[in-house]
Amino acid sequence: MTNSNVQRVLVTGAAGFLGSHLTDRLLDLGHEVIGVDSMITGSADNVGHLTGHPRFKLLTADLARGLPPEIKEQTFDRIWHLASPASPVGYVKQQVITLKVNAIATIELLELAEKSHARIFVASTSECYGDPLEHPQKETYWGNVNPVGMRSMYDESKRFMEAAAMVYHRERGVDTRIVRIFNTYGPRLAVDDGRVVVAFIKQALHGEPLTVQGDGTQTRSLCYVDDEIRGFLLLMESPDYHLPVNIGNPDEVSVMHIAEEIKALCGSKSAIQHAPLPPDDPRQRCPDISLAKSLLGWKPTISRRDGLLRTIEYYRQKLGISAAV
Ligand code: UDP
Repeated sequence: MTNSNVQRVLVTGAAGFLGSHLTDRLLDLGHEVIGVDSMITGSADNVGHLTGHPRFKLLTADLARGLPPEIKEQTFDRIWHLASPASPVGYVKQQVITLKVNAIATIELLELAEKSHARIFVASTSECYGDPLEHPQKETYWGNVNPVGMRSMYDESKRFMEAAAMVYHRERGVDTRIVRIFNTYGPRLAVDDGRVVVAFIKQALHGEPLTVQGDGTQTRSLCYVDDEIRGFLLLMESPDYHLPVNIGNPDEVSVMHIAEEIKALCGSKSAIQHAPLPPDDPRQRCPDISLAKSLLGWKPTISRRDGLLRTIEYYRQKLGISAAV
């Protein structure tokens, strides 16, 4: 590191949902952040408040086309690789880019980390568990993934990302961290992202039917973004641990319950209606977070109700909707 406390940091996906929240925290900590984003699923709005910030610079570049020279030629203390479409709707629209940004860009960033002697954090996913046969999911579970299905460009490229991080750590001594992110929600998810929380909030605030896919008995475990980012920072600065770590909230609920709760918290009269289940939709999803607790002293602290209320308030303002409908 160049100075005892201040880090020179690269954040890929800095204008995305998680990347922009992470960038805010890193700047709060006094670090210097170079962000890179293709703006395919990220948005200038997410980092608009950072315009002119003396320690933040944003480059627009698609890492699926290779690392831009202005990044390759620099050195960093920390590299955070968060760039990727991350919603089932988003990655099916950008299949090749999803594959390349998680596979090829990961390799290039690992090489940059090796050259820079940087510590690198790669954003993997609970999708590595596929439709899990073990519940809740521990990091030691190898998963049940369809390698050729409609989510495979995401699931398999994230599994490759993990393999790549381990290879560069073992063979080249790169200082790697791997997080497995479970469903995370909060302000700055794109309104048309398609992920369940933002889809239901948007529908409830507009008085439109909430579209529960399938019978709604499938489960997810929702983590508020501030808790997730706190876990990321602890993992990045944790002592030598290179295997994947689950960061997610084990508070598991059915999708139907999420619909009913969001409808009630929005004070909405919307109907709940069923829609077809997307292919390879996992039946259940719940992290075992014993490792994060023992290794990092991390556990989520924001209740689903509080997190949803904060998120609803953000979208009320963003969509310009004040009254319940
Ligand atoms: N879902 C739903 N209605 C929507 C969007 C999602 O019922 O409008 C369901 C989806 O079928 C899945 C769960 O919500 O079972 C979570 O979906 P999401 O796209 O948020 O993320 P995933 O966990 O599948 O990656």
